[in-house]
Amino acid sequence: MTRKFEYAPAPESRSVVDIASSYGLFIGGEFVDPSGGKSFKTINPATEEQLADVAEADAADVDKAVRAARRAYERTWSRLSGAERGKYLFRIARLLQERAREFAVLETLDNGKPIKESRDVDIPTAAAHFFYHAGWADKLEYAGLGPSPRALGVVGQVIPWNFPLLMLAWKIAPALATGNTVVLKPAETTPLTALLFADVCQQADLPAGVVNIVTGAGATGQALVEHPDVDKIAFTGSTDVGKSIARTVAGTRKRLTLELGGKAANIIFDDAPVDQAVEGIVNGIFFNQGQVCCAGSRLLVQESVAEDVIHRLQRRLGTLRVGDPMDKNTDVGAINSAAQLARITALTAAGEAEGATRWSPPCELPEHGFWFPPTVFTGVAQTHRIAQEEIFGPVLSVLTFRTPDEAVAKANNTPYGLSAGIWSEKGSRILAMADRLRAGVVWANTFNRFDPTSPFGGYKESGYGREGGRHGLAAYLDTEGTH
Ligand code: NAD
Repeated sequence: MTRKFEYAPAPESRSVVDIASSYGLFIGGEFVDPSGGKSFKTINPATEEQLADVAEADAADVDKAVRAARRAYERTWSRLSGAERGKYLFRIARLLQERAREFAVLETLDNGKPIKESRDVDIPTAAAHFFYHAGWADKLEYAGLGPSPRALGVVGQVIPWNFPLLMLAWKIAPALATGNTVVLKPAETTPLTALLFADVCQQADLPAGVVNIVTGAGATGQALVEHPDVDKIAFTGSTDVGKSIARTVAGTRKRLTLELGGKAANIIFDDAPVDQAVEGIVNGIFFNQGQVCCAGSRLLVQESVAEDVIHRLQRRLGTLRVGDPMDKNTDVGAINSAAQLARITALTAAGEAEGATRWSPPCELPEHGFWFPPTVFTGVAQTHRIAQEEIFGPVLSVLTFRTPDEAVAKANNTPYGLSAGIWSEKGSRILAMADRLRAGVVWANTFNRFDPTSPFGGYKESGYGREGGRHGLAAYLDTEGTH
């Protein structure tokens, strides 16, 4: 029996952030009303309380934003030296650090993720992306991407709700460092930190129109993708939407990068340090409620240690604290939306119906809001939907293997190829396995680590193009003079 510590409540203060009752669109350096006068609500998924009313951009607004970005590109941004652009990026990075607490609280309220994650991972990593790319802005000719790489022009960027500010940073920092201007559409359930970022752009005196933020749902994103004066589209989101964007962009001169879904294998060998591996499994699938494209959602454990690993994992899951995301001790927060909760519920029901065994630790879930307990499925077959489809929730599917060959075959047996983890004491085994896994990122004896210097991206249905590192710069540059 595991002894559970009782924790006194340790709530972060909500008063560090001012949330306006309504927000306009950020176009040409100022907040403007949407042309159609429409808006939508954004809520706190932990309580279902409305946070703000947010403008919904239609095609006319998107056009206005693209024009503002084009003007800024031609009149100011493309005329600045790399060193001057870098100064703006350094300023933005420092402002994100200075206002980190405000951003962390707002992210947690709008997304439902635990405050300790937004405070310790999302916001510091977003600032790190701006610092890293600020350093590149005046050194692009030394990046090994040709003697005089040039910006593409105006970039349209569409991002999801799971890491709202961090995904914004992954998109905007490299685009600005390489000399492009942007129109970004945040996800409809998490627009607030992007709108606070607009405030940071004003505070940094960023020239008007270099960054434009248009809020709205799929139709707004589609209008941006279809706009004829956009030179490149960068999309992060689901594979289905990614495919439809690829069809729209096909045959045009637009460049495209896609960061899509995943179904990563986290592979535990019998010589792995078991307690560390158990922490890695927990971090792999319960970090951000498993709503992570590179989540270690399939555990592949060597048969000889499977019983021991699962036993220790269950004992550890019994100590996770699920509940109020604003509490500094919370490990697992709320699911981002009712729609996402419905998807997780349907897929886990399919897991049971197909014959896998379901287990969750006893935990009380709050009455309001969207919640799902940490869940483990054992007895999973490769053909089960829970072994093939992305659940995007706190749900782990456990499979076993006997030999490294079998582990490779099972790990690669999905339509995706975004990430993987290997746990073993032997470096030679790790390297040999990493070579054979069709995954863009392979972690060894760790999981879910992100660094701006390291390229991230997928194979197969996980998309194409890389973000971060030197490789990520290439996606925003015309290196052959063809554009
Ligand atoms: P989604 O594809 O439904 O939405 C993503 C974004 O696209 C949102 O801003 C949405 O409004 C917009 N959108 C929807 N329809 C569109 C259309 N037809 N044209 C243009 N834009 C459109 O995905 P989601 O549910 O918000 O996010 C979850 C998915 O994102 C998961 O599949 C996850 O794996 C993936 N994801 C991938 C990465 C990565 O780096 N590979 C990172 C985070 C999330």
